[in-house]
Order: sequence, then C-alpha cells, then structure tokens
Amino acid sequence: MKNTNKQIWDYIDNDGNTKKKKQCEHCGSPIEPQYHNGKVFWTDGHDGFPVCDGRVCDDCNANAVIPARLRAIQS
Ligand SMILES: [Zn+2]
Repeated sequence: MKNTNKQIWDYIDNDGNTKKKKQCEHCGSPIEPQYHNGKVFWTDGHDGFPVCDGRVCDDCNANAVIPARLRAIQS
C-alpha cells in the first residue's frame, strides 16, 4: 500500500455529514465520490475484477483493470 498521509479521505455527503471515502483495493488510494449536479451519487469506484477482489479507483480502473480485461478477451 502506498503512503496515504497526504491524501484526503473525508468527503461531505448529501446530508452534510463528513464521511470516509472508500479505499482502492489495488493501490490504496481513496476512491473519489462521483458528483452529479452537486450531489454525491456514487462512492464505490469500479469493480476490480480481474485485477483484484474489491473496488478500485478511477486510475486503477483505467490503467490496470480495463487493460487486464482487454488482454483476457484477446487471449
Ligand atoms: Zn487505485
């Protein structure tokens, strides 16, 4: 797991409560909530299959999970 000291783990939900972001199963970074019209509508990131068994962040989805799926299709 990477050093997470400088990362921001809190976000404000739609009720004004401070919540903890979920953690990426692959790199350990916080999974950024998705917003629509200023409201949080998704906090679970992406499915990590087949790279890991859990949720992953945007970066890992784009750079690890999707390429792994493409390789699986092509092989
Ligand atoms: Zn990640």
